[in-house]
Amino acid sequence: MLSTSAEARAQLGPSRLPLSRLTTPAPGPLELPPLQARVLPASPQVWTEFVAETLLPTRQGNFRVRGYRHTVDGGKTFTEPCIIYCGEIRDREDLPVRVHDACFTSEVLGSLKCDCREQLELALEYIQKNGPGAVIYLQQEGRGIGLANKLAAYALQERGLDTVDANRALGLPDDCREYSAVRNVLDNVGVRSVKLLTNNPRKLAEISGLGVAVSGRIPCIVPAQRHSQGYLDAKQARMDHLLGRPTPEDDSDEVAASEAPAAAADAGAPRAKPRAARGRAGLACWPGVLVYL
Ligand SMILES: [Zn+2]
Repeated sequence: MLSTSAEARAQLGPSRLPLSRLTTPAPGPLELPPLQARVLPASPQVWTEFVAETLLPTRQGNFRVRGYRHTVDGGKTFTEPCIIYCGEIRDREDLPVRVHDACFTSEVLGSLKCDCREQLELALEYIQKNGPGAVIYLQQEGRGIGLANKLAAYALQERGLDTVDANRALGLPDDCREYSAVRNVLDNVGVRSVKLLTNNPRKLAEISGLGVAVSGRIPCIVPAQRHSQGYLDAKQARMDHLLGRPTPEDDSDEVAASEAPAAAADAGAPRAKPRAARGRAGLACWPGVLVYL
């Protein structure tokens, strides 16, 4: 096990806290309505620009997707958040919204080390069946440290560190995601208040602290698998995630499902019909709680 940040960096190469540098050129000339061309900035350094909206047919149904460019440094660098939604979301209160951070390793490569892909699928399926609703997708890989740093952290986890200690050994924060794009995008589409599909209390606090009206929480439970067990344990024990995790002795889908409703933060959360068939990949909805089976 590596004992210092310097040792870890020496073995794994330099690690820097990155900001995405997009090289994608601006799209061709677009006739954007003036009011949609730029969301009001929170500061002179932070703003979000609407670029385009389109219909996107997917395996889970049809969604509308709005793309943006977002900067937190006065336009030196940009990320490209988007909102994926179905139904009429303008002027909605209590809109179910998942704020989802990119995870290349699970969403593209099918990594089993985390639950990100399942949470995204869960959210998309939920809003498709219970819309209107939305997913705001942010380019914040590895809790904001970026893909290369995340792979470096994985390499340390192979040596016994958990996800938090691996970041610290590399001199990186536990979590450096920021959510100003969420506020700006929700302002842009005219959503009045949201119920966040999340298990992460930090995300709730950060987003509501930005002035977003958060009226409730919908837990989003993905039972641990062999490869994700340690990661989910660390998220619950060290980052206070509200996973309603059963103990190792009684770890089963039934326990996770029966415990999950107790974690629901809002009795008025949307209700979905239980799925009749179980035992295959898919979604089951308890009142206001999503569980990935
Ligand atoms: Zn992930």
